[in-house]
Amino acid sequence: MYLKYEDIRRVSVEITSRCNAACPQCPRTDNPILPAAELKMEDIERIFPKEFCSQLDLVYMCGNYGDAMTSNTTIPAIEYWHRMGVPHVGMYTNGSGRNPDWWQALAKAMTGEFDRVTFSIDGLADTNSIYRKNTNWDRIMQSVNAFIQAGGKAVWHYLIFEHNQHQVEAARDLAKQLGFVEFVPKATSRFVAQELFTQQSTKQQQQQVDNSQVAAANSDRQNQISANISAPQHQEKATVQLQEKAEECLKQGNLSGAIAACQQALKIQPNLAAACKTLGNAFQGLGRMQSAADSYAKALQIQPNFPEVYANVGSLYAQSKQWQAASVYYQKAIELQPNFAGAYRNLAKVLTQLGQPEKANYAWCQAIAIEASQAPEPPQSVPSKPASEELQPPSLEQYQNPQAGEFMKAVETYGGINNYYRNVEISCQTQASKDIFISFEAELWPCCWVSHTKYAVYNDNYRPQMLALIEKYGKGFNCLRTKSVQDVLESDWFREDLTASFSSSKRLDVCAHECGKCFNSTGSQYI
Ligand code: SF4
Ligand code: SF4
Repeated sequence: MYLKYEDIRRVSVEITSRCNAACPQCPRTDNPILPAAELKMEDIERIFPKEFCSQLDLVYMCGNYGDAMTSNTTIPAIEYWHRMGVPHVGMYTNGSGRNPDWWQALAKAMTGEFDRVTFSIDGLADTNSIYRKNTNWDRIMQSVNAFIQAGGKAVWHYLIFEHNQHQVEAARDLAKQLGFVEFVPKATSRFVAQELFTQQSTKQQQQQVDNSQVAAANSDRQNQISANISAPQHQEKATVQLQEKAEECLKQGNLSGAIAACQQALKIQPNLAAACKTLGNAFQGLGRMQSAADSYAKALQIQPNFPEVYANVGSLYAQSKQWQAASVYYQKAIELQPNFAGAYRNLAKVLTQLGQPEKANYAWCQAIAIEASQAPEPPQSVPSKPASEELQPPSLEQYQNPQAGEFMKAVETYGGINNYYRNVEISCQTQASKDIFISFEAELWPCCWVSHTKYAVYNDNYRPQMLALIEKYGKGFNCLRTKSVQDVLESDWFREDLTASFSSSKRLDVCAHECGKCFNSTGSQYI
């Protein structure tokens, strides 16, 4: 089990996905799929009833995608948490927004002895906005002054790059003068995968060159073959081409084009079962169910052992909610083709409708196992966005992340990053610290790392793995707008599957990356 409800001690809340800045290595920057959304007070009150608040030590607003300063929920939420008995509240911000009144009101709301606002300021007047793009130094200083002078306790986090490493000590002095309670230089973990990224890009470019050479050679061979074929072979070739065209039209949603191509192919070769099947699919797409059924029947007449057609007939029945008949056809498809993952997947849905959850679960697991065994080796994962030219890690050794080299070493020891991700021992950090994470969409996740993969467009594996997870457990399985924290913690994923995945090869890459025992670059940032 990840954590029992009564064991939760700390909650990280991503109150919004909005931010005024555009930091080059932030997953929100230039992210085309990130929705703009935030939690409202009714969400906060629903998610945090009094008895839950009274067991907590800390609520902190950090998150992956937004800055709490931009949300109108932030101050009322802090006041609410304190009223309900949460002793400590924290918040992270770039500080470049709002007016002094807002910062003073924030300071007044932060009444807990260890309440803190952490300002992420990566440099001084001339360097901070190199990373914290779109921020303004004067506004940040105004916010800091208003907050501290109104009694707020502020911490300065300073990410060290090449361009600001010479200012660390000057910033430390300024922090003292301004009244910060702590100054924390951070040896950024943002470059640990850079070397790997460079290696991989080179490999991929080489692969593309190789592939295009193979494609060119194949196309030459194809031209030679077509110049030498006879008349009956021409006819056969024409039906193959028409069938391919029909499939292509189908893929593009051009259903009438698909029908026309199938009908032409069937004129030349009336016993072409594949064309009958594609014709059935196109009719099904147009909602012409009887024509689809007739086409599938003809396909089965010609080729009685055609698994795909049985599955398609199953889908016809499923569409008209004839679950029993659908189940029979999916099972027939599986009998003919035992590694037919799609048929297992659909059978699982139908068995759920028939009220047979155990059988449905078995079918679902079969689908996943088959898909995993058939999947090509996933592309090499690149765990963090490569730095832009402008951003370089610090050259001074004392400011470099001490674990940066460990990542490459671990990857080499395990024989590649995929092997590392599949096999490294995992020690879940947030399970140990009794943390949970609530996203700007009011979804409960174990940590910000897992949550952020939902919109991690920069990584080839993180997001597909997350989408598969959501599909498996059902959209909204962890939504705190409809379920309580306790209910979600008792869902299959939190209760069993998440922690079981740590000791299997089917874990999330992000878990291996962040909590694999061989290195911890995020945790070793604080110097
Ligand atoms: S300030 Fe924070 S949330 Fe905003 S762009 Fe920068 S890293 Fe991302
Ligand atoms: S990344 Fe995975 S293993 Fe690490 S804290 Fe999050 S849930 Fe736990």
